[in-house]
Amino acid sequence: MCRKKKLVKLATMIAWTPAVERSSVDKWVHDDGRVLILSDAAHVFFPCSIQNLAVAVCDATTLDHLFLNAFQEIRPERIRSMHTLELSNIDFSLMPNGPAQEARDESLKERRDKELNALDFIGSKEGDNKEEMDISMRL
Ligand SMILES: Cc1cc2nc3c(=O)[nH]c(=O)nc-3n(C[C@H](O)[C@H](O)[C@H](O)COP(=O)(O)OP(=O)(O)OC[C@H]3O[C@@H](n4cnc5c(N)ncnc54)[C@H](O)[C@@H]3O)c2cc1C
Repeated sequence: MCRKKKLVKLATMIAWTPAVERSSVDKWVHDDGRVLILSDAAHVFFPCSIQNLAVAVCDATTLDHLFLNAFQEIRPERIRSMHTLELSNIDFSLMPNGPAQEARDESLKERRDKELNALDFIGSKEGDNKEEMDISMRL
């Protein structure tokens, strides 16, 4: 007798597992953008399906692909602006003594007296692109 038949004979009970078709959720990313579900949690397949795992792997590789491409697309501009800002920062901090340095020191003192952030305006005209900077800081 083959092993499977032996196994069936040993069974003391039979359990029925109904194949119920359930609808998958349509939205996989939470509104706050901090939670993503994928694979079995997101896509409902029958238990006997054979593509589930492939779907799970494709979910992961798609995410990986999008993440890497988005990173490459989004970050360079921000990094370039950081380089520019850092250069301005160095120019600003290491001014040789003279009228420009004195004007800088005066301006810093004024900002200190007004309780303003002394370095806020380095690299751009004061207040310029503040909103843009805030957004790219979040990226
Ligand atoms: C008997 C069987 C045979 C299968 N055969 C195939 C097949 O031939 N081909 C195929 O493509 N697919 C097959 N599948 C489906 C495949 O295994 C799943 O689609 C796949 O594993 C889904 O991966 P997943 O990461 O989404 O979920 P899972 O692999 O289920 O991983 C979820 C993990 O989360 C853990 N977990 C759950 N709740 C919590 C919690 N509260 N806290 C912390 N951890 C938690 C679980 O322990 C588990 O490790 C089969 C499934 C079964 C059950």
